[in-house]
Amino acid sequence: MTLFLHDTLTGKKLAFEPLKAGEVTMYLCGPTVYNYAHIGNARPAVVFDLLARLLRRSYKLTNARNITDVDDKINQAAIDTGKTIDEITAQYIEAYNDDMAALGVLPPDIEPRATQHVEEMVAMIGTLVDKGFAYEADGHVLFDVNSDPDYGKLSKRDLREMIAGARVEVASYKRSAQDFVLWKPSTPELPGWDSPWGRGRPGWHIECSAMAEKHLGETIDIHAGGQDLVFPHHENELAQSTCAHDGAPFARYWLHNGFLSLDSTKMSKSLGNVLLVHEMVKTIPGELIRLALLGAHYRQPLDWSDAALEGARSMLDRLYGSIRGIELSDEERAAAVPPAAVIEALEDDLNSPKALAELFSHARALNKSTDDDERKKLAAEILAAGELLGILQVDAESWFAGSDDNDLSAEDIEALLKQREEARDNKDFAAADGIRDKLADAGITIEDSPTGARWRRS
Ligand code: AMP
Ligand code: ZN
Repeated sequence: MTLFLHDTLTGKKLAFEPLKAGEVTMYLCGPTVYNYAHIGNARPAVVFDLLARLLRRSYKLTNARNITDVDDKINQAAIDTGKTIDEITAQYIEAYNDDMAALGVLPPDIEPRATQHVEEMVAMIGTLVDKGFAYEADGHVLFDVNSDPDYGKLSKRDLREMIAGARVEVASYKRSAQDFVLWKPSTPELPGWDSPWGRGRPGWHIECSAMAEKHLGETIDIHAGGQDLVFPHHENELAQSTCAHDGAPFARYWLHNGFLSLDSTKMSKSLGNVLLVHEMVKTIPGELIRLALLGAHYRQPLDWSDAALEGARSMLDRLYGSIRGIELSDEERAAAVPPAAVIEALEDDLNSPKALAELFSHARALNKSTDDDERKKLAAEILAAGELLGILQVDAESWFAGSDDNDLSAEDIEALLKQREEARDNKDFAAADGIRDKLADAGITIEDSPTGARWRRS
């Protein structure tokens, strides 16, 4: 396997080589559990689930995705709802896992919770203080960014410029505006743990450094998350871990997904334009949402719209339509591997749009073929690719049975298009127009092209 991944630290697409031959460690920053995940939050879970599935083909993967279950937003949610912190976090951890499962995200191997790793965080903070990278002030412990000459390396920020440009009022206990909190004091009603610096709670960034160290070691192969985490979260994790480990590299490859916007607008709770996965999966098949998320390259921005969902629906109609009615034994299915072109596209920095295009060319070959053995072979390969991509998970018949009664299936549409073509060949234009109208009434738009008619649901 020659996998290439774009690494944020070097800004380059690099050939992937794990630290230990044959084994890979991956850490994805997971949710802060104070409300339901929105469709933007689902993007990293889905795209890095695809990477995990790809890696498992060739490596023994240990995949960790943490849960941030201590955070001021969680404390606030408890106050707002009158629930306890444990009730809030338990509710949203369960919802997150159910929602991601509905999108075909396989459970991570390790799901460390911040509240269960405070001891490790306190130990790491102690190490940073002892080594002169952190200082105690006013019940807080802060990371001293000036002690780390590499600070800013991941996000390509210049520390001096950052300090000069800092407009926020700097807390009196900080030596420098960019110093960030490792530990902060808790009042009696807030969650807190005993520490050498008094009763308090950890800062967000130290959680991931401590949990990654405990479960995956000092150097991890892949560290992933959304683009917004590059600064400050990952920059700070990098500084903490490298300084605590005497310069040992923290992550060999840094991967970041692009942002998802909603009809060209940034999703934001204050704008009220947030789509919750929890609600969406009640009416939309999970694999359809997953395919729409994989329709764009993971590093590109993705504009979410009804059209993106409809595009994914017609893609699934076409793929399920191609394999419909082809009987495969368990052995035939188990023996099949995804088409080489699909794998190649994914190995090129997880190029899922290209992989899907390759899958469609396979589906077209299947539709054209009249040789039963060849059709079976192609169908088995399409299903194997579906397993890798986390789509085509249900039986084709139930896919079509599940679509709206008023919806024409892909097969019905193809049949009508064929009739229309025949009518045109016979110069029966009234009949051809009638079929076009019938399709239009069913919300199907036809586009004639030199290679034949194409359709999409409008
Ligand atoms: P949070 O719970 O806000 O820490 O976010 C969980 C994950 O979702 C992080 O990896 C974020 O980078 C990612 N994320 C949040 N919003 C978006 C978005 N609109 N598009 C893509 N990723 C997002
Ligand atoms: Zn993190």
